Amino acid sequence: MGLLDVFRPDEVVRSVDEIDLDALAARGIEGLLIDVDNTLLAYGLPDLAPERLAWAEQACRRFRVALVSNSMTGRRARRLANAFGIPCVAVWHWDRKPFTGGLRRAMRLIGSTPENTAMIGDQVMTDVLAGNRAGLYTIWVERIGENEFFFTRMVHRRMEEFVARRLGFDRDQHKDGGEAIQR
Ligand SMILES: [Mg+2]
Repeated sequence: MGLLDVFRPDEVVRSVDEIDLDALAARGIEGLLIDVDNTLLAYGLPDLAPERLAWAEQACRRFRVALVSNSMTGRRARRLANAFGIPCVAVWHWDRKPFTGGLRRAMRLIGSTPENTAMIGDQVMTDVLAGNRAGLYTIWVERIGENEFFFTRMVHRRMEEFVARRLGFDRDQHKDGGEAIQR
């Protein structure tokens, strides 16, 4: 175990619809916490792409699902959560990812525990780090779009690249078809 291992996702996929729900269930996962921006929705766009919509509908049927979004208003996340009839936690200040307060709140809402919950998101520095710190199974998804907050682009993504290089996982890895990473 190295110092950077807290950044290492358990799984790397190209898009949420590549996440194998059977495999998650077989692993004992019952709850899914899903990031919104650039994981389900392209930044600034209101609707899910058809393949992601189909995946999300199936996920909501089979698992207890909550959305966890770093957002001051949570408007986009809430709208999406309402459409699926699932809870949504919009986190800011000291609850925001990579802090774990929002994840714990979301797990309380869906009645799951770290042992049986997966965190799915496009950012190592927020989603994966928060999930690992809270003891969840973590899945890193390639971001949907190139557009994002200036700070995310300039700071988080550079750190993400550094960490991914050091730990030997990167975005090219799932170009070959999303293989699981051994911890
Ligand atoms: Mg995101």
